[in-house]
Amino acid sequence: MFDSRAADLLSKGYYKERLEPDECKYLLTFRDRSPEAAMAVSLADRLTRSECKSTGLLVAEIPVSTGPCPVGCRFCKWAESTTDSLFWDIDGDDLARRCRELGAFSDVRRIRLSTIGDADIGRLAELAGIAADSAPKGTEIYVDTRDLDASEAGTLKDAGVTGAYHSVRLGEGTETGVSAEKRLDTIRTLISAGLRTVAGTGPIGPEHTPKEIVDLFYATDGMGCDGMQVYPREPAEGAPLCGNGKILPARMSQIRAVLTLAMSRYDFPAFEPTAARSSRAETWRTSSTARTEKKSSGRPAGSCSMPATTESPGLTASVPTSPWHT
Ligand code: SF4
Repeated sequence: MFDSRAADLLSKGYYKERLEPDECKYLLTFRDRSPEAAMAVSLADRLTRSECKSTGLLVAEIPVSTGPCPVGCRFCKWAESTTDSLFWDIDGDDLARRCRELGAFSDVRRIRLSTIGDADIGRLAELAGIAADSAPKGTEIYVDTRDLDASEAGTLKDAGVTGAYHSVRLGEGTETGVSAEKRLDTIRTLISAGLRTVAGTGPIGPEHTPKEIVDLFYATDGMGCDGMQVYPREPAEGAPLCGNGKILPARMSQIRAVLTLAMSRYDFPAFEPTAARSSRAETWRTSSTARTEKKSSGRPAGSCSMPATTESPGLTASVPTSPWHT
């Protein structure tokens, strides 16, 4: 029999009422093949498609600097102790060519420049300027880079950067060389500098509990981020955490679905297609967006009232994740 409390919580999320962290944790106590999980996935998919008019945002990611990273995250293939790669920085002409080539695919509306954890922010600003000049007009330039201070965030903003992705990782300070507070400070700094900011929650492995995942996700709630990204850990050969394996796709879908419903009270991003850039492709979805909190659309009276749905569990809020998420 379908759990009645779960039914009520799923209904709350679907109708844009706030879900508390403990309610999300409860929804994640169900197995990923349970009817409760299937309903979460189905409702989150239905809600996202409806809010975004089945339109996604196609993001191209270009790594601009790679090599051994001193931050040393125990899941990352670029950690100094794991990789035997050499340092590599993209050439400005190469970046310009790639951005022009991406222009041939008119659906690409955002380019994200990623680095490892010891980026030269001045150089990254130069590259952002090259990308902005080379990509089709209107393409958003985002960065995915190390922790920043206000001056560095301002440098990126002045160079034409639209926004940034920044992740607070599970096990920050123990599995990584950075504290969670420093990550959160950087997110505040990015937002204060006027950069649209997407906060990441991950990388999620099979060993992580609902409490760890949900508490981390809610750590950035209310900060003013434009989006949230929830992502799994990709096993990196040679990394200490590689042996823990990878979370099952069905469980990952369930987690994304519950967290999508948890944030449904916020406005979803509006990806309006233009004549030059019509996009219907399944590409990029935020699991929530935190700019504007929506009023609840109101559950039907007297409800533990899940909407009827015939949609099969499938895509929910998810974005591709990069091995360079620093
Ligand atoms: S996840 Fe980012 S910060 Fe951590 S080791 Fe890898 S590149 Fe460096």
